[in-house]
Amino acid sequence: MPDCIFCKIRDGQVPARIVHRDEHCLAIEDINPQAPTHLLVIPLEHIPTMNDLTEAHRELVGHLHLTAAKLARQRGIADRGYRLVFNTWRDAGQTVFHIHLHLLGGRPMEWPPG
Ligand code: 5GP
Repeated sequence: MPDCIFCKIRDGQVPARIVHRDEHCLAIEDINPQAPTHLLVIPLEHIPTMNDLTEAHRELVGHLHLTAAKLARQRGIADRGYRLVFNTWRDAGQTVFHIHLHLLGGRPMEWPPG
């Protein structure tokens, strides 16, 4: 999608700290981190929101989670704990309409989130 920031990062048109890339997704450092570890795991395919997922995305969604768990282990936060979040639409505060899995960790977090 021409106006999508994550498509531009995927295509190398906008710089980002890319920490992982494979045939299905990439992971980047969030530009405005909310925790000592704040990565975004982003599918290469442009999918605007979680509402746009279909059965065809079943494996992809699993892959995004497995990738996040692998990155958490690499960052040394797996045993301490971390949070995985897909914000969806306005009430959840979604601002980039290309789905992305937030991996947050490295500090204690509260529940429920604000
Ligand atoms: P959302 O609010 O949609 O769940 O999360 C979007 C996330 O993308 C935010 O945490 C925001 O800081 C991050 N973000 C937005 N634009 C950019 C960018 O150009 N580069 C990077 N690395 N992160 C971005």
